[in-house]
Amino acid sequence: MSLVHNLGFPRIGARRELKFALESYWKGESSRDALTAQGLALRTRHWAEQAGLDLVPVGDFSFYDQVLDMSFTLGNLPERVQGFHGDALDNYFRVARGRSAAGADDHVACCGGVAAGEMTKWFDTNYHYIVPEFTAATGFKLDASRLLDQLAEAKAQGVNAKPVIIGPVTYLWLGKSKDGSDKLALLPRLLAVYAELLEALAGQGGQWVQVDEPVLVTELDDDWRHALTHAYHELKSSRVKILLATYFGTLGDNLYLAGKLPVAGIHLDAINARGEVDALLGHLSSHKVLSLGVVNGRNIWKTDLEGALEWLEPLHERLGDRLWIAPSCSLLHVPVDLDGEQKLDADVKSWLAFALQKLDELKVLGTALHRGRDAVKAELAANRAALASRRGSPRVNNPAVKEALGKLDASLGRRRSAYAERAAKQSARLKLPAYPTTTIGSFPQTAEIRHARSEFKAGRLDGAGYRDAMRTEIERSVREQEMLGLDVLVHGEAERNDMVEYFGEQLEGYAFSQLGWVQSYGSRCVKPPILFGDIRRPKAMTVEWIQYAQSLTQKPMKGMLTGPVTILNWSFVRDDQPRSVSCRQLALAMREEVLDLEKAGVRVIQIDEAALREGLPLRKSQWKEYLGWAVEAFRITANGVEDETQIHTHMCYSEFNDIIASIAEMDADVITIETSRSDMELLDAFDSFKYPNEIGPGVYDIHSPNIPTPEHIVALMRKAAERIPAERLWVNPDCGLKTRQWEEVIPALANMVAAARTLRKAA
Ligand code: GLN
Ligand code: ZN
Repeated sequence: MSLVHNLGFPRIGARRELKFALESYWKGESSRDALTAQGLALRTRHWAEQAGLDLVPVGDFSFYDQVLDMSFTLGNLPERVQGFHGDALDNYFRVARGRSAAGADDHVACCGGVAAGEMTKWFDTNYHYIVPEFTAATGFKLDASRLLDQLAEAKAQGVNAKPVIIGPVTYLWLGKSKDGSDKLALLPRLLAVYAELLEALAGQGGQWVQVDEPVLVTELDDDWRHALTHAYHELKSSRVKILLATYFGTLGDNLYLAGKLPVAGIHLDAINARGEVDALLGHLSSHKVLSLGVVNGRNIWKTDLEGALEWLEPLHERLGDRLWIAPSCSLLHVPVDLDGEQKLDADVKSWLAFALQKLDELKVLGTALHRGRDAVKAELAANRAALASRRGSPRVNNPAVKEALGKLDASLGRRRSAYAERAAKQSARLKLPAYPTTTIGSFPQTAEIRHARSEFKAGRLDGAGYRDAMRTEIERSVREQEMLGLDVLVHGEAERNDMVEYFGEQLEGYAFSQLGWVQSYGSRCVKPPILFGDIRRPKAMTVEWIQYAQSLTQKPMKGMLTGPVTILNWSFVRDDQPRSVSCRQLALAMREEVLDLEKAGVRVIQIDEAALREGLPLRKSQWKEYLGWAVEAFRITANGVEDETQIHTHMCYSEFNDIIASIAEMDADVITIETSRSDMELLDAFDSFKYPNEIGPGVYDIHSPNIPTPEHIVALMRKAAERIPAERLWVNPDCGLKTRQWEEVIPALANMVAAARTLRKAA
């Protein structure tokens, strides 16, 4: 019989219970007991919901982050928080979130402030983990209490528990050496603690432990590959059976290595790596379990159950008990329960599966393998009907969109003239001073804005009333910018709840869930829109707002759009066509918007690509392909305009070294980027590449309430001018200002404008 199991369950709660419990505790509005009780309630509920599985993950619950949990389990805390006394949970949050020296905290008096751990993306997902920190002196010390406590809870509930931990090599790989020392030198010390941990888990009577080593789907050099071999040979004498879990991609060059590791079983992401199943089986000795991730843990679509059975059945015949099935990866990356959705269009809803529905699919597959398809006839028929309805839906397949896509040719992505020629025409038209000043788009989302929006959504404010409220805010932004003396103005994005949702709501082919939250980091969740069908723009989306804003001023008003790559990367996307095709459809729709803005007399158009970098594949060998279609999509969107129209783009991150050639290929007239925290050093990448167009390096960090001084801004811009010719520099903040207060924005921008004036005088 084939065993059905799960790799991990979303812990935030179907109604984001954990988020609210955490935030209330952090604000001091509820007790630690209330928080830990909520944690227990969620674990209990989630285990009950997984009760039909043969093995249920335990230890996947986390109050903040599973990597940080592992750091605590291994006793690897940054030096700056060691020696804190007091409650363990509070210390945990201290590492997760930091604490300012002025904060209202018992420990400030004795222990002072502490910087939060650095956060970074978990492989190619939108989840962010707290980066483990290492030095040559790092030591480890086991604290298995979290896992053992949860195992005891699970046992009391009668759960078939399978503890889940992050493997030693992935743990090292995820961390950062703070002193430049070799992380791999720590492996022997680390393995000693892992051996102890496995022993502690064996003491709980469980047979299997899931050890996650997703590094196996990345490109590894010989040292890292050797580390894997070494690690699992060291751990092989443990009394537990190790299920080595890989996910998020193919094993590629690591396939033989993975197949030969001395573990009891291996999990393969059969959504991404189905083509590797046979080869992997060829390397597995006959006692090893092969767990296949056959339900996609990264998207929200129903699985083609009969399609899966077609290839699983013969495998099952061959492998019998050795074949296990599971989701491709932890279900952390999908929302909890589709049944909670009240407003989703019935058609679209019938095509979807969230975490609970995905587990149901697995159970159906397990039963079919075990007892034959007839035992789940009704379920298979319903699944077949849903898939057919999706495939045949005119909302999914719109021939007109396909036709437009077919007509695309390269000329669509090319500006009429080269940058130098365009720049001369733009400067004659815009008549901007040296060091022109601008902002990235949004102004504070005030309480008035949020109130008007929620009244409008609730139906208590009509369309006209809402429009008036937004116009009032736009007018306020324009007046403030004129008073400040900025050169290129923005309307402030008052009418936008979110830079992707705003456009998704106006495009055909998008649906929105009410409760489809996915954890991004800590208590923060995102609700990605669902791109389900061919994309069409029924009418202009931004033109009226921008026109209104332009009518209030003589200064150039920037039209603000989100780019196709960012819209794609922040959505749940289709699995029935390549990402590149969905992206090109978005590009065509956004191009129409660009051209409509131009027709309406808008002279400067900014197309944000905040998430372009996020879409980079895990393996560098695949970057070229992604960057190729991503850049092309941007060019299709942007480059249909006349020479006189100035195209801006914005990216909010600070790593450009390895993608600078693609950024240059986008050929935006102006790019604004995040730089203030890197002291302009990141401009080196632009300098050494000889980036040809204009750049606005952010001069202050919008994440902080600090007001930058004019002197500081002048100094930063002088550094910038050492790398980029001054006549190609703009002066702007790092990113949009929507999370700030007007009281912070006005003095900060006043200082920015003053700095630009100083720079002009000195020039
Ligand atoms: N135009 C957007 C804003 O100003 C850009 C946000 C972003 O880059 N994340 O808010
Ligand atoms: Zn930004």
